[in-house]
Amino acid sequence: MQIAFYSTKSYDKQYFDACNKEQNIIYIETQLNEQTVALAEGCDAICAFVNDVLNKKVIAELARLNIKLIAMRCAGYNNVDLEEARKNGITVVRVPAYSPYAVAEHALALIMTLNRKTHKAYNRVREGNFSLEKLTGFDLYGKTVGVIGTGKIGQIFCDIMQGLGCRVLAFDIIANKELVAKGVEYLPLVDLLPQCDIISLHCPLSEQTRHIINEETLGMMKLGSMLINTSRGALIDTKAAIEALKTGQLGYLGIDVYEQEEKLFFTDWSEAVIQDDVIMRLMSFPNVLITAHQAFFTEEALEQIAEVTLSNIKAFETGKELANKVI
Ligand code: NAD
Repeated sequence: MQIAFYSTKSYDKQYFDACNKEQNIIYIETQLNEQTVALAEGCDAICAFVNDVLNKKVIAELARLNIKLIAMRCAGYNNVDLEEARKNGITVVRVPAYSPYAVAEHALALIMTLNRKTHKAYNRVREGNFSLEKLTGFDLYGKTVGVIGTGKIGQIFCDIMQGLGCRVLAFDIIANKELVAKGVEYLPLVDLLPQCDIISLHCPLSEQTRHIINEETLGMMKLGSMLINTSRGALIDTKAAIEALKTGQLGYLGIDVYEQEEKLFFTDWSEAVIQDDVIMRLMSFPNVLITAHQAFFTEEALEQIAEVTLSNIKAFETGKELANKVI
């Protein structure tokens, strides 16, 4: 099959080339959107990532170009207009899991860095400043952690935090019996929020979860608590989070994902004037840590993404059952 592979980075090419034996992949550096969809002309399938735009117009155009398959090389598919794909008979596949450890461990990295301020200590010591002033952290042991979404990633995150001696509370539409047996307590969101020192988001973005963290729910959180988001940016109403940071209601914010990230992430803007005032305001807080959607970014995850995406494409090509079909 000929595949238009959008938003290609050097690491995508490296891991896909190492794994690909049969497909004709056309690597395209640009993001998929209404302006770039025409580049898929002559291909049978497209391969897209988290910030590619697969709205109604783009999908209708893909259908016009005779694209039969959208192979998402990620777990989330909130950026795909599934209804339009269904209407046009385009199959959508994804990689439902690729090293959930990578994301859960990155959530821990955000917590550890925000808490113990290792990023500040690193810079200080390199400049010959060995002072400890303002580097005080807190013991994670004995703290209460709230996990919203206890699927593949959230479950591992619960294990990690229990391993550190934390009390773990959870909110999900389905309780995981294994976690309950390990002592994780499921509670309604309104009961969980006021009890937690740290809250970590691991649910998908949907109409039910969009802005699940908003002015009201931020107000229910414990004064000065820590919020971590490695899931999807729009789970948090960013402007409400900024207000909560300004009053001190929110004590720390660690995000690997951001509501408007598709215009910024995965690109070097260091020589440009960034026009997004919301992220610039976020960056001005000393207690905010932002990484650019790198939670998945481990060797193991990149290998699994390449393997599963190529096997999804092969299964589609040969008419086999599609284990990772979205629609
Ligand atoms: P999963 O499907 O295994 O788990 C999601 C959990 O959320 C499930 O237990 C589900 O019941 C729960 N859930 C669904 N709707 C809910 C709601 N309304 N309220 C509460 N809980 C709800 O998914 P996963 O593999 O654990 O991934 C979780 C999310 O992590 C993905 O949706 C994706 O957005 C994000 N992710 C981010 C990165 C990254 O690099 N930052 C990488 C992979 C995945």
